[in-house]
Amino acid sequence: MAKSKVWFSDANATNWAESLVCKAKDLFYEAGLNECISPGDSVAVKIHVGEYNRTRTLRPELVAAIVEEVKACGGRPFVTDTTTLPYQAFNSRINATLELESAYRHGFTPDALGCPIVIADGFSGDDDVRVDLPDGIILKEAYVASAIATADAMIDLAHGKGHPITSYGGAIKNIGIGGQSKRGKFLEHLAHWGEPADAIGYPLSDPSACAGLKCDFHKQCMDGCHAEAITIDANGFHRDTDKCRLCYGCQVTCLFTGHTSQGFRPEYFPYAQIAMSDAANAVLKTFVPGKVGFMVYAIDVDANCDCIPWAANPVCPDIGVFASKDIVAIDTAVLDAIDAAPILPGGANGVLEDAGVKAGDDKFQALVGATPRFQLTAAQKLGMGSMEYEIITYEPPMTREHMAKWQIRPEPTAKYLRDIWKKRKHVQEIEPFKRTAFNINIYKEYGSLPGSTEEVAAAEDK
Ligand code: SF4
Ligand code: SF4
Repeated sequence: MAKSKVWFSDANATNWAESLVCKAKDLFYEAGLNECISPGDSVAVKIHVGEYNRTRTLRPELVAAIVEEVKACGGRPFVTDTTTLPYQAFNSRINATLELESAYRHGFTPDALGCPIVIADGFSGDDDVRVDLPDGIILKEAYVASAIATADAMIDLAHGKGHPITSYGGAIKNIGIGGQSKRGKFLEHLAHWGEPADAIGYPLSDPSACAGLKCDFHKQCMDGCHAEAITIDANGFHRDTDKCRLCYGCQVTCLFTGHTSQGFRPEYFPYAQIAMSDAANAVLKTFVPGKVGFMVYAIDVDANCDCIPWAANPVCPDIGVFASKDIVAIDTAVLDAIDAAPILPGGANGVLEDAGVKAGDDKFQALVGATPRFQLTAAQKLGMGSMEYEIITYEPPMTREHMAKWQIRPEPTAKYLRDIWKKRKHVQEIEPFKRTAFNINIYKEYGSLPGSTEEVAAAEDK
């Protein structure tokens, strides 16, 4: 079987054409993502807007760059994301107004992006389209956010980073979780899967680790449950499994406050990844084949997802941008690149260094306990793409035309100033400098300069 093609350009830059913005625009065409868009198409540009106070989301210009090229293809883009479950106490994306506040705070505004921003599953996250998945591995149905399901084309524009449950979040997760409505997300948490006694998605409670009313966070823990399923008394934590809908709010609150009463059994993590691939497949089924392109920025590779309201130092140096028409190939390539990269000193709060993880090791497995490749093997089995890929490394051509191609204006901007000043006829007023005596050695009073004329001459004398 032919390998899927994945285009890649690295994060380093030495000239105008090598800005990551310019490389992303180039890759959009190199990978043929322009072919996904016909003039007049409504095009969803799916991003993760990030939690309030998150400091490692994608920067708006990296998204605007792609919006501009969707428009250049004649598409009608809208940048989009979905609401979330109340999975943590101070969640900023439980409804559309809170989510837009977070998006705007991160700079994802219509002005910065150059197009509308739409919360794809509506005001409270229940505007969706049901997709049956008779061949799903775990899920037999999914609920795709309606603005995504009804778009003509989509650019799945992901931030490559870790995730505390799915190990890695890239192109698959950006639509597998991020393209689902609230009930789609509940379903992926395996809320309707098995009986409460054996449902693997239920948080694993250790009542003996709960301090009950003595826990400083017990009120926050109870108030954080939208289903009012938690009671905390002197004997500790009690969950009403008939009411619980598996949002994970209590588990995350307990974890974030440094307690260990609520957790997950290890087998839960692969199941979560497989369900996520089922749900991503449901999103792809809402598009005509060939109408979805995939891009991943592997920069600011935090151990945690953009759904976490803070960020640590990244696990590795910035890698670059990837583009492909194969969702499985692109995520495989990004994960391989992240694993091959050196550990960034101090990254992931030092956990990788402390664990002796080296370049080439599975970084996210070391962080979460489960390899992120469950989502890839599941997606490949579902026929979504191939883990066999060929990397095509792209370097921008060093030509005058290409340097100018993605600049703010196609000509050197000094020409605009030249014309303005000519029209205003007061250059002398703007530059009132007079020649004056100048001591060329004055800097030596403040320090020495390696490679200065005097140092070179002195070295040659020796
Ligand atoms: S008890 Fe269930 S519904 Fe309530 S916060 Fe915990 S996981 Fe969510
Ligand atoms: S945060 Fe954890 S330890 Fe505290 S009350 Fe809730 S379950 Fe118990």
